[in-house]
Amino acid sequence: MAFMNNVFFNNKYFKMVTLGILLTMVLMLSVSCGKKTDKKSKSTTTSAPVNEAKEDIVDNLETETPEEDIEDVENPVVEETEAPIVTEKPVVTQAPVKTPEPQKTTAPVKTQETMKPQKKSANASDHLIVIDPGHQAKGNNEKEPVAPGSSTTKAKVASGTTGVSSKVPEYVVTLQVGLKLRDILKERGYQVKMIRETHDVNISNAERAQIANDAGADAFIRIHCNGVDNSSVRGALTMNQTKNNPYCGEYYSLSRKLSENVIDSMCAATGLKNKGVSETDTMSGINWCTVPVTIVEMGFMSNPEEDMLLVDDSFQNKIAEGMADGIDNYFNY
Ligand SMILES: [Zn+2]
Repeated sequence: MAFMNNVFFNNKYFKMVTLGILLTMVLMLSVSCGKKTDKKSKSTTTSAPVNEAKEDIVDNLETETPEEDIEDVENPVVEETEAPIVTEKPVVTQAPVKTPEPQKTTAPVKTQETMKPQKKSANASDHLIVIDPGHQAKGNNEKEPVAPGSSTTKAKVASGTTGVSSKVPEYVVTLQVGLKLRDILKERGYQVKMIRETHDVNISNAERAQIANDAGADAFIRIHCNGVDNSSVRGALTMNQTKNNPYCGEYYSLSRKLSENVIDSMCAATGLKNKGVSETDTMSGINWCTVPVTIVEMGFMSNPEEDMLLVDDSFQNKIAEGMADGIDNYFNY
């Protein structure tokens, strides 16, 4: 037996088989244990990690995503408040550069106030506007023909009306508005000639027309205020010759166009009641004209409310701006 045992146990083959069996068993045990632990670990790692993963996701959702949201929200907010300021400023600096440029081409049609002057400055210098602030400090009752060669005569210069409430004489208001119109037209690039810039002059209506003729006025603007016995009458109007005026009928169309543009723009700018265009051949200062002419009756100083408007500095600015706009429109700027 010992021999057998020895033989048996000393048999290398047996040893290897035994070791192989033992190893196999160990391996199987270890594998089964590993599987169990794997399952356990898997179950734990699948359940727990899933939960953890969910939590992570939740955490991510609650922390990261919100943070991103916050960032998304905050950044936009920041961008909307700060960046836009940064971007808008460039945009503002660029846009003004960009918009004005397009406006230079488009705006003249759309924005009349800002662009027209620019266009005007290009072409307005070709045009001479003669402004006649009506009347003067002292009227001149000497007579003069109402038209070249006419036997009908009128006072050279009437004294004009006076504000029923303001007590301001018409010649003061006409010069105030005339000087404002002069400045506005010059700003817009026009050539401007004033019939008078002080009250102390003595220039007849026929002479005023001849000054405009000699200067070659492209538009002759005669500024006046109205006055009647009825204090309820109000509104602005312009006047020019009739189509059949024997002295200056050939300037009827242009004068009419000038009158329409000026009264419409002036009333639009001021809110004054638009009484439209009156045509008359009784005005010396029109009949003597060989240039386009309009008399602007800015309103009734016999009406208390209109009187107080006509002597008001800011309202006069509106009147002058409106007149200038009408002149712009007349020249199709
Ligand atoms: Zn007058």
